[in-house]
Amino acid sequence: MKSRIIVLLAAVIVWSGIGSSTGYAAAEGEKYVSELQANNLFVKKVAGMNKDFIKGVDVSSIIALENSGVTFYNASGKRQDIFTTLKQAGVNYVRVRIWNDPYNAYSNGYGGGNNDVQKAIQIGKRATANGMKLLADFHYSDFWADPAKQKVPKAWANLSFEAKKAKLYGFTKQSLQAMVKEGIDIGMVQVGNETTGAFAGETDWKKMSQLFNEGSRAVRETNRDILVALHFTNPETSGRYSYIAETLNKNKVDYDVFASSYYPFWHGTLHNLSSVLKAVADTYGKKVMVAETSYTYTAEDGDGHENTAPKSGQTLPYPISVQGQANAVRDVMDAVAKTGTAGLGVFYWEPAWIPVGPKTQLEKNKTIWETYGSGWASSYAAEYDPEDAGKWYGGSAVDNQALFDFNGHPLPSLQVFKYAETGHIPKK
Ligand code: CA
Repeated sequence: MKSRIIVLLAAVIVWSGIGSSTGYAAAEGEKYVSELQANNLFVKKVAGMNKDFIKGVDVSSIIALENSGVTFYNASGKRQDIFTTLKQAGVNYVRVRIWNDPYNAYSNGYGGGNNDVQKAIQIGKRATANGMKLLADFHYSDFWADPAKQKVPKAWANLSFEAKKAKLYGFTKQSLQAMVKEGIDIGMVQVGNETTGAFAGETDWKKMSQLFNEGSRAVRETNRDILVALHFTNPETSGRYSYIAETLNKNKVDYDVFASSYYPFWHGTLHNLSSVLKAVADTYGKKVMVAETSYTYTAEDGDGHENTAPKSGQTLPYPISVQGQANAVRDVMDAVAKTGTAGLGVFYWEPAWIPVGPKTQLEKNKTIWETYGSGWASSYAAEYDPEDAGKWYGGSAVDNQALFDFNGHPLPSLQVFKYAETGHIPKK
């Protein structure tokens, strides 16, 4: 094994000498595949998963990456549509974020995949073609919505609250109808993203609740079988989820799924996650799930844009390795299964957000991110998000948390979705 790695590293030097983008595609990350083949992965069976347990991925950046020249391979090293590769690994659900208008007045994209409704349709069609359901994740913003920012879309900025409600309902309904018309199999809709303390520019829970209900109504009118999910984060904060669930109940918000983000280096223990989700499920009769999770398989940065983890001050409870990554995902699945039949499943966040080029070609990467929106933010986002994107725009902050190596080859850990069903013991 060691000698193989040395040979590959020698190949890296030769390939980088050539300096072509295809040369790059055959080099650096391959060592992670050789480090641990799928056959060598150990996965402890997850007991108690529902038969249609969600093994989902959010690959919202995929179109922008493909436009940037990034290629993906199957386990045999052949180029293959990533949706087929995901399906073969046991993935059964695809999540896609939707921003209202992630562009400036000159049609320059804000980045982060430039994910508008049209992108969601492209991704949804490919998911459906491969037998996977779609979770449409409406942020109701023109760019990232998370606990730190829930900025209203540009076009809604000066509206009255009643007018904003009407817009939110109309945008949801029209977007869903456009997707249904394309034959997309929508299984779930998220009304808002990480709306832990704000939503579409509102911070008052009474108003937030009314807005949730406008989105929910649009989903119900589209198709009664589509699940309505609300999404929150920071499960580690004591009392947070019980307060939110109680407030939603008091305000008569119509929803089916209470979803949480869970990143092991930020969000406390799995025991706590399972416990707070189960409490919501038992008390209010809701389904629960993890809408986002991911973990590091290497500490290396692949594209010259700093990664979110590992960082000092973070606790990384698993080894930073392919096996550690698989363990992390397996254990999140287990934590959701432990909530009982209410536990719907888990979505892995951006398992394919890999480099558009090696970190040694940072300037070239920057041009690609700006042109195709394949970095987390472009400079064009500064007009909308000056404090964050305007200062820190750049590439992928999660290339070391992907389930594909830096060159687009699936890591053995991608198979965790399939292996968790039966358990998997390394073959000698
Ligand atoms: Ca990076």
